[in-house]
Amino acid sequence: MTKYVFVTGGVVSGLGKGITASSLALLLKARNYKVFMQKFDPYINVDPGTMNPIQHGEVYVTYDGCETDLDLGHYERFIDEELNYTSNITSGKIYKSVIEKERKGEYLGATVQMVPHVTNEIKNKVYEAGITSKADIVITEIGGTVGDIESQSFIEALRQIQYEKGSENTFFVHCTLIPYIYGSNELKTKPTQNSVRDLRNMGIRPDALVCRAPFDTGSHIKEKLSMFCSVPVENVIDSIDVKNIYEIPINYHKQGFDEIVLKQFNLPLNKSNLKYWNDLIKTVDNLKDEIEISLVGKYVELHDAYLSVAESLKHAGYKYNTKININWVDSEKLEKEENLKEIFKNSKGIIVPGGFGSRGIEGKIKAINYARVNKIPFLGICLGMQLSVIEFARNVCGIKDATSTEFDSLTKEPIIDLMADQKSIVNMGGTLRLGNYNCKIKKDTLAYKDYKCEQIKERHRHRYEFNNKYREILEQNGMVISGINEEADLVEIVEIPSHPHFIASQFHPEFKSRPTRPHPLFDSFIKASIDNK
Ligand code: GLN
Repeated sequence: MTKYVFVTGGVVSGLGKGITASSLALLLKARNYKVFMQKFDPYINVDPGTMNPIQHGEVYVTYDGCETDLDLGHYERFIDEELNYTSNITSGKIYKSVIEKERKGEYLGATVQMVPHVTNEIKNKVYEAGITSKADIVITEIGGTVGDIESQSFIEALRQIQYEKGSENTFFVHCTLIPYIYGSNELKTKPTQNSVRDLRNMGIRPDALVCRAPFDTGSHIKEKLSMFCSVPVENVIDSIDVKNIYEIPINYHKQGFDEIVLKQFNLPLNKSNLKYWNDLIKTVDNLKDEIEISLVGKYVELHDAYLSVAESLKHAGYKYNTKININWVDSEKLEKEENLKEIFKNSKGIIVPGGFGSRGIEGKIKAINYARVNKIPFLGICLGMQLSVIEFARNVCGIKDATSTEFDSLTKEPIIDLMADQKSIVNMGGTLRLGNYNCKIKKDTLAYKDYKCEQIKERHRHRYEFNNKYREILEQNGMVISGINEEADLVEIVEIPSHPHFIASQFHPEFKSRPTRPHPLFDSFIKASIDNK
């Protein structure tokens, strides 16, 4: 029978609940349990796909094409398991499904209410994750903080699950903040007491507290929290600020967090295998060299908008014992910039990741041109690939007006164009080309050298495509199309063999990079950047 762990947050947002949930999952997996993860986001959007990346951060994409919160990226990177559409549930999804059922008459005349109809829908999503994943343990993180109006129906559903399944099958982790008051030099427990009281008012008794604090809270604070919050003292876990997030699972392990959960579940502890993770920490803490990579995008004011790209660069750096410093370049500012040499003077490589809309486009094209002409290692992703093609068409093939119909719907040179099956689409949400598609790699290319195989699957999130009418002229001028989706005859990877390292993909490799297993495209890009003297 599946066991359920729920992770809630109190006091303030941004405590790292996602990292706590992922760390616990990693520890349970290290003890040989099959773990699955899920995130509840109480906002009304059906998914984050339509949200502004500057407000919400990156949209992560699962293999089955679900657009999800960026925490899913942490989950996959920590536990190295593929998650799916059952892993990210929003209020929007819940309400949509309840209203659709009501319209179909499925409630047989009942008055449809928050309890039980909405709460049942939420409970079903938790159980569905358990059943479809066949996991021993499902860990569900609840977004936001306890007390938010939006999250109340979720908390009520979890209360019912705690009651239905009993405490040997459910475990509640509450993440809180223990602030430090300078002057009186004290750690304060009152905000945590208040937030646990809020949770108890809603009928939930936490089984463990994870306390974010600047340093270990010590036995006095733990005893106080234990007494006021009715949590055993050993279940009060410290979560101190660390310089490298990979240390967090190990810090929890040292405090017996995984044992506490397994004991409550009456499950055998099994031997814990964390050697690979400790090795990773050792590598990350002792990187010998460092290089700078320029990341050119229009959402650079919020680094979380490029979270998986930044993580993927770091992963590849670990393999070569090199710290990657990112030079965040605002593509819109680049449009007016005369002196690109100055901007890129310390950078060993340039990356142009994904994006939407026409703002900042010409700045990105300028950066791509700079990388191509000056033979600087370059990696383009999704929009970055589309713009690489536009740059090449304009400046090498002489198609001066080459652009994408995303920026100019009436252009005479639609070198990037809307896919045929996208032309009749009206709704913007969830209708991009999403998730895994096959890609066949051409032999004797950089892509083949990177992947070392002919058939790959990668995750996508785009609406526009390389226009096949222009393939020939680009190939005649020296661009190689090294990856193709054969089923739909779509260009997936392009490269320029006369350049030391110029490659761009329509898909998003950043979603498949893991700290102990960098993605082949990032691996070779970082290697080329390190070798770029
Ligand atoms: N805006 C482009 C498209 O829809 C690229 C999308 C992306 O970079 N994720 O095709």
